[in-house]
Amino acid sequence: RKADVECQVCVLGAGPGGYTAAFRAADLGQSVVLIERYATLGGVCLNVGCIPSKALLHAARVIDEARQFASHGITFGEPQVDLDKLRSHKEQVVGQLTGGLAGMAKQRKVTVVRGTGRFVSPNEIEVEGEDGKKLVRFDNAIIAAGSQAVKLPGFPWDDARMMDSTDALELAEIPKNLLVVGGGIIGLEMACVYDALGSRVTVVELLDQLMPGADPDLVRPLQQRLSKRYAGIHLKTKVARIEARPEGLLATFEGEKAPEPTLYDRVLVAVGRSPNGGKVDAQKAGVQVTDRGFIPVDRQMRTNVPHIFAIGDLVGNPMLAHKATHEARVAAEVAAGMKSEFVARVIPSVAYTDPEVSWVGLTEADAKKQGIAYGVGKFPHAASGRAIGIGRTEGFTKLIFDEHTHRVLGAGITAPNAGDLIAEVALAIEMGCEAADIGLTIHPHPTLSESVGMAAEVYEGTATDIY
Ligand code: FAD
Repeated sequence: RKADVECQVCVLGAGPGGYTAAFRAADLGQSVVLIERYATLGGVCLNVGCIPSKALLHAARVIDEARQFASHGITFGEPQVDLDKLRSHKEQVVGQLTGGLAGMAKQRKVTVVRGTGRFVSPNEIEVEGEDGKKLVRFDNAIIAAGSQAVKLPGFPWDDARMMDSTDALELAEIPKNLLVVGGGIIGLEMACVYDALGSRVTVVELLDQLMPGADPDLVRPLQQRLSKRYAGIHLKTKVARIEARPEGLLATFEGEKAPEPTLYDRVLVAVGRSPNGGKVDAQKAGVQVTDRGFIPVDRQMRTNVPHIFAIGDLVGNPMLAHKATHEARVAAEVAAGMKSEFVARVIPSVAYTDPEVSWVGLTEADAKKQGIAYGVGKFPHAASGRAIGIGRTEGFTKLIFDEHTHRVLGAGITAPNAGDLIAEVALAIEMGCEAADIGLTIHPHPTLSESVGMAAEVYEGTATDIY
């Protein structure tokens, strides 16, 4: 059968992984096809993930800061929420970015093929779109089909009041009572949005802490703040059943301290994401896929089939956009004949909650588990002039050092804008910085960034009391 399109590099999926790989390969002179089933480029991150959630979280922060300022002498009154306007603001933000991507693809002469692609042989993908089927023949392929929200079975998913993160970002309404199932990053970010907009929020988490994966001390200031605002935060609790009734969704809980069955207007389920590796017929190209749907790769992002690469959420955790884009560049460069490798030492994680919680590299829990001799430098924001000035002293900055070399191994920060602050430590870890390198670096005053320098000084024993 004759191919409809031939190319050197075919990228399957146009999320942060896919579009970055396509653009990099095109910049390296390759002829590139980018296959995407949805109408816009940008994948989960731009359309229904990172970007719309942060646009709404900013609105939440403005509302919260205005409310908080009442105690400092300025009162704005209760916010009037025009949901249609807020929704169109979010859509405008998304549209600006996805539209920009379409322009960049055109500029680079990347051929975008719309439709659902599946491998039919080691060098061919068939794309089923609105205008029929197209066969794409390639020299190299990069699988970047991403992931999707886990839908817990047994819940009444055909009821419109049941939401995954995509539904929650649509902002159909502000429910009076919202149950969030899953206390991870995505669940807590959406909880923050709906709480600020006026919902009574209840969070239920199966494990014994919110945001599993982060050190417990890092999460505590967030949990304390949320506990005062939310209807409930229930740890070590399972949602056993949800029953759709005309008057609401009746949730039944299990666990030692499980609450009584309760009616909610809406339920958001955010219990993780599952990779789409098993949905592209990769086995027809001989590509190995695990039972869970991940595609194993080497440091050059190659699958077991040397001319087929995989990147992004479907190659493994953490499922983060900035990991996908870095892997994407490696795959595109290797496909174009370069000797690149994915050698990042660390990948930062951020929850854009209020306060934000960020961490990078080794956690204290990991260090203990691995028996690593480590020391901690911790700087409480209660000693930061800037934190006092903005009325946000609940957080801290913690750096983790190797006791023998004094090199920084990891960090955690809880504060407004902790996501921005953690980038410095990611660089310090990549550069192999020692505590003295960080402590001797002059940070601008008065900023929360000083807390990174101060944490290093605390570790070294050279810190003064207040900053
Ligand atoms: P995806 O973005 O999932 O893109 C895959 C693309 O492939 C999709 O467009 C899909 O339609 C397409 N596709 C799949 N199968 C096919 C097929 N057979 N044919 C054609 N096309 C196909 N990460 C962060 O780093 N920071 C954040 O703040 C953040 N916030 C998030 C908030 C939410 C609510 C969610 C859900 C996720 C968030 N993430 C965040 C995670 C981030 O969105 C993902 O890590 C990132 O999008 C992964 O990129 P990817 O390229 O691997 O795949």
